[in-house]
Amino acid sequence: VTGDLLITGASHVATCAGPGPRRGAALDDAGVREGVAIRTASGLIAAIGPEAELRAAAREDLAAGRLTELSVGGRAIVPGFVDAHTHAVFAGNRAREFEMRLRGRTYLEILEAGGGILDTVDRVRAAGHAGLLAESAPRLARMLALGTTTAEVKSGYGLSLESELTMLEVIRDLDRTGPLALVPTFLGAHACPRGADRDAYAREVAQVMMPRVASRGLARFVDVFCDAGAFDVAQARLILDSARAHGLGLKLHADEIKSIGATPLGVELGCTSLDHLEKTTPEDVRRLADSRTVAVLLPGTAFVLALGFPPARAMIEAGVAVALATDCNPGSCYTESMPLIQMLACCGMRMTPAEALVASTINGAAALGIADRCGSLEPGKQADLLVLESADFREIAYHFGPSPVRAVIRAGKLVHGEV
Ligand SMILES: [Zn+2]
Repeated sequence: VTGDLLITGASHVATCAGPGPRRGAALDDAGVREGVAIRTASGLIAAIGPEAELRAAAREDLAAGRLTELSVGGRAIVPGFVDAHTHAVFAGNRAREFEMRLRGRTYLEILEAGGGILDTVDRVRAAGHAGLLAESAPRLARMLALGTTTAEVKSGYGLSLESELTMLEVIRDLDRTGPLALVPTFLGAHACPRGADRDAYAREVAQVMMPRVASRGLARFVDVFCDAGAFDVAQARLILDSARAHGLGLKLHADEIKSIGATPLGVELGCTSLDHLEKTTPEDVRRLADSRTVAVLLPGTAFVLALGFPPARAMIEAGVAVALATDCNPGSCYTESMPLIQMLACCGMRMTPAEALVASTINGAAALGIADRCGSLEPGKQADLLVLESADFREIAYHFGPSPVRAVIRAGKLVHGEV
């Protein structure tokens, strides 16, 4: 199927429309419309409205072959998922460490056995540009097949100027050639390299790496793992101040292990998103609710590491803008599946299917500062949409295991599956 489309025959279209991010009761409204068709033009949504009206308006274009009708046969349509937090570019895997953890070995024992983030760092440095590209491209193809049309991807397994730049170049190349749109984030402060002093390394990230990353246009955001055992609030502030001075957007890995003040720092600095938040205090939930910062929750990681889920219900009731993401990474959550994350959000955090969908689409886009372009099905936005196997969008979270996605349309083109 090529050219502009008239997409018809949907049971319903969950538009997730409206200015994002959605909060409170609005989060529970997926904007479901029945009897509507979608017309695309040059990769964008040109119109969405009653099927009979759109078909009548399109009669000449259909007859002249300028427009192709795509009937989805009574299935549901939702926006493509926006996965706002991934580490999907990496080399090797940590299956050995997965088993060690299940056998009750402690974090320290795993580190001593050569596991943890630094294990992946060694493999990423050894893989180089070509190896990283070859291992990561199939992962992105699996993300697309599971419905993700836009994903943020972080560096952070290089931990040296040279290999952080290599990671960001791989992300750039995968964005150019790959099947989904990528938003690059510089996470030089993911961990401290072996033998380095943490303060000195934080200064290197802020003062040496940042100017190089920024001048080459390789990142849109900067992220810091600000937590107990990782970078402290002062180190995170140093790095994010530098990021802002270089015109980059701000993010933090916050409150995963312990609440050490990452959320107040992130809100004060106007971070676009704060991510994880398993251990966020009620006071910091109120801080988030009063801010423009999006809370990106990662229930897959909380589930795998048995951290306890983030307080999603308290956040939603307080008015926090909540988004969901996979955290796809080789250590704590190896999944490409946004549908699985929506199931965990529902069954683990008591979110409704509509809340989970909105948090995976328009609110994910807001967490990446691109809610004006994608994340919902509205005229003028990118025609990124999913045809589900089911007639009911709630099956995304309800029927877990097999992929709920029958076909993926990105920028108006059928890029996966068939209708
Ligand atoms: Zn992460």
